Amino acid sequence: MINLSKRRWTPVGLLMAAVAVPMLSIAGCGGGGGGGSAIPSPTASGTPTPSQNFTPNYVASIENRLRWASFPINVYFVPNSEFNAARRNIAITGFNQWVSATGNRVPYQVVTDANQADISVTFSSFSGGPGDELGLSTITFEQSTNLIIEVAMNIGITGDSREDIQTAAHEFGHSLGIAGHSPNEADLMFPVGNSAGCSCITTADLNTLLAIYNGQFNTSTSRSARTRPTGPTRTITIH
Ligand SMILES: [Zn+2]
Repeated sequence: MINLSKRRWTPVGLLMAAVAVPMLSIAGCGGGGGGGSAIPSPTASGTPTPSQNFTPNYVASIENRLRWASFPINVYFVPNSEFNAARRNIAITGFNQWVSATGNRVPYQVVTDANQADISVTFSSFSGGPGDELGLSTITFEQSTNLIIEVAMNIGITGDSREDIQTAAHEFGHSLGIAGHSPNEADLMFPVGNSAGCSCITTADLNTLLAIYNGQFNTSTSRSARTRPTGPTRTITIH
């Protein structure tokens, strides 16, 4: 279902302009740009299944195809003035869409120690001013392997729980490694949110994540034993 009323994950101040200049919004979503690299081989042990081609997907449109070396990953909610339990639960509802869609292959756990965070989630007020974001993720990864080191996620609050769940799910998609956007508006990872209907994880969204990981999600290594990238890093910001 296609809805005409759209809301960007990107700057709220450009909300109305986004409809008029969609290419601008897409062009501005790549963060650090780059891309064009081949899908990294998985670090997880296991035998890839060549016959699984994970189609349809939009991997070719993803600027940076990133991966976590192992799961579960730790999610920490920053206890700022915008934080409350209801917002946390909304975010978790969005995150859980990916856990469910993948059959629990990308588990996470909520931690209360910032030092244990893989993904730090900060809620921010929704004033509609320039620079405000519905969602914004800053991802640091090792350049040579595309292994994610940490993510700082910002979730704007609209007060519409359905939209906020969409924002959380969209940003979690980035946090899992889809550091780019789908060109298809039906997909959750399209750069513009759907303010009327449901932006849910589509087959293409799921296949894209599976393709990035080549179907290999390491859930057998503890976080403390996770491969800690030591090479040069890069940080990108994506809406
Ligand atoms: Zn995005």
